[in-house]
Amino acid sequence: MRYLFFCFYLLLICSSNAQELSPQTKLVDFKKIEASIALDTLSKSVIGKITVHFQPKENINAIFLDARGDYKITSNTLKHTTKFEDQKIVISGKFDADQKYEASFSYKVTPKKALYFWGWNEKNTDKNTVNRKQIWTQGQGKYTSHWLPSIDDMNDKIIFDLHIDFDENYTVLSNGLLSKTTTKSNTKTWSYSSSKPISSYLVALVIGKYEHRITSTVNSTVIENYIYPDRKADFESTYRYNKKIFDFLEFEIGIPYPWHTYRQVPVRDFLYAGMENVGCTTFDDDFIVNKNTFEEKNLINISAHELAHQWFGNLITERDSKHHWLHEGFATFYALKAEKHIFGNDYYYFKLYENAELLDRQNGQKNSTPLVSKKANSLTYYQRGAWALVALENLVSAPNFKKIVKEFLTNYATKNVTTDHFLSIVLKHTNKDISDWSKKWLFNNDFPTREALKTLTESDFMRQYLQLAGERTQPLIGKYQYVSKALNFPVNPYLASETVTQLYGETSPEANVLLEKAFKTEHPLVLKTIAETFDKIPAAYESKFRKLLSSDSDSTVEAALYQLWNTFEKHKKTYLELTKDKIGDNNKNIRTAWLALALNTPGFSNEERALFRRELNQYTFPNHPIGLRKFAFQFLAFSDNYTDQSLLNLAEAATHPNWRFNKFCTDTIINLLQDVKYEKRFLHLKQQFPNKVKKLVTTE
Ligand SMILES: [Zn+2]
Repeated sequence: MRYLFFCFYLLLICSSNAQELSPQTKLVDFKKIEASIALDTLSKSVIGKITVHFQPKENINAIFLDARGDYKITSNTLKHTTKFEDQKIVISGKFDADQKYEASFSYKVTPKKALYFWGWNEKNTDKNTVNRKQIWTQGQGKYTSHWLPSIDDMNDKIIFDLHIDFDENYTVLSNGLLSKTTTKSNTKTWSYSSSKPISSYLVALVIGKYEHRITSTVNSTVIENYIYPDRKADFESTYRYNKKIFDFLEFEIGIPYPWHTYRQVPVRDFLYAGMENVGCTTFDDDFIVNKNTFEEKNLINISAHELAHQWFGNLITERDSKHHWLHEGFATFYALKAEKHIFGNDYYYFKLYENAELLDRQNGQKNSTPLVSKKANSLTYYQRGAWALVALENLVSAPNFKKIVKEFLTNYATKNVTTDHFLSIVLKHTNKDISDWSKKWLFNNDFPTREALKTLTESDFMRQYLQLAGERTQPLIGKYQYVSKALNFPVNPYLASETVTQLYGETSPEANVLLEKAFKTEHPLVLKTIAETFDKIPAAYESKFRKLLSSDSDSTVEAALYQLWNTFEKHKKTYLELTKDKIGDNNKNIRTAWLALALNTPGFSNEERALFRRELNQYTFPNHPIGLRKFAFQFLAFSDNYTDQSLLNLAEAATHPNWRFNKFCTDTIINLLQDVKYEKRFLHLKQQFPNKVKKLVTTE
């Protein structure tokens, strides 16, 4: 049972990308794109000069580069005519087959997507919030040609050399080697080169205020990890095990890291959890964590996943989205292996089990598709993809699997691949019949739950867990002795937590004995499960729940506060007093819940209520992280405290480029419109809303 304020942070890492082979790719081989880029933060525009190096495969009269948006060509080389037409930049001239050419032009564009300006005209709403001014790119699923004329088809791999001019007080990051920097007055130029050809969706540009630390791996690759200057204290917990993950994956994959330097950089308002740009991974700054939050939220999975993409996706690239599992399945598989290396076998099997549950549920809903398909969803590409590789490794043996992967990466380095390329190498390294495997895991509609279960039950722990989970529907009296064992020392947190969830709604003396035993484990995961499970706290346990308010875990505190407030009517004010100084995670999970509870507790701190209202409304402004804004929008609805400005902020947020956030805001608006009182207020404000929201507010 989830308590009222439980918020689920949906982890989806990078989107899939539908691609058709463009005619340009057949006619021309683009070798290199050199770009000098300046950025105007006032008009949110890109001013660029491009030199494109290319070699036609046939005699042709024109080439084109993709250029999506409102491009203006400001000058071009005398030798060729360059014009912007139909979302393309067309360069005309007589180009003979197999000859080398270069052409240059200058342009200006205000990107609608793929390059985002953040915070350059934001007002600071309170002194405790750092206004982050950033520019960053997201190529996958968005098309890099929105800001950099290039080829959107990922089958044309090109060397990108980027020279970026910007204010010297900022850090500017891109792919590959930083070959030089020069400074003229206050403007600095950073020159980066990708050295090997890459697909354009993997080009990155990140600008912001950062500090960084450098580490070197076993094979002497330089890792640069970036952090905000005001979050330096969280560097260690954010990047914990980073070098261990890198060294492990390089060994496990069996091919040295294929790029020059590896950079990891947090960005605000990110569209996904992370993105594997070549040699320059960006990740959502919500994954900057402190030492207390590390246990329940950390960068490890994302860090390992994006690093694995440096081989799977970046070095070898799918021919089209039908083979997207070759990116996401492999990245998810190797991230799981890295986590197993750090957190152990139980963690690994439990994750596999959770993913199998989701995939099996998808079977039940008749939503499954083959893995090798353009129509598969993220769950299938990522989790089923990883499961398919677990099954393959079991079938062909680990040493053979390693040989297969090594040959696959070596043969197709910097090229584009399909599932058949992979399968033909699998066949070379095993005498096992793989037809049953490929049918069940790659080509059948349904996820093979039965096969997955066989793999899971190889683990003693998983057998115990599945047996215990099988008791969920049994009455406590009959299973008491059995489930009680799961709380014995040494505690297995997964088994103990499973027992705690089976106590939901139980009020018998036996249930209390088990709850007592669960508290005694003192394991953070078990205590968190207790806080989240009991929506009516047994009176005898009030003091024990009260102790949870001092937990290091922000989600345990948030849950315990709500359950105590909800259960003990007479002590509501006491619990609010006890937690009035707690803030919580990056999104102020405890503080925002506290404000909503305070506003919903009649008579509590009458003199400060206006301040509480103001504070909660303040968190809706765009200078705050989207996770915090989401809490604020949610709790303002819960406590009925929206100001007009917050409704305007909500309407603006419904057009945010992060689709999960804009969907949440759109849904919130639709829900509020059900209430006549809000409907009137929306109508009153309608003219100030963006068009998307205007359409939701109808005047019937
Ligand atoms: Zn991915």
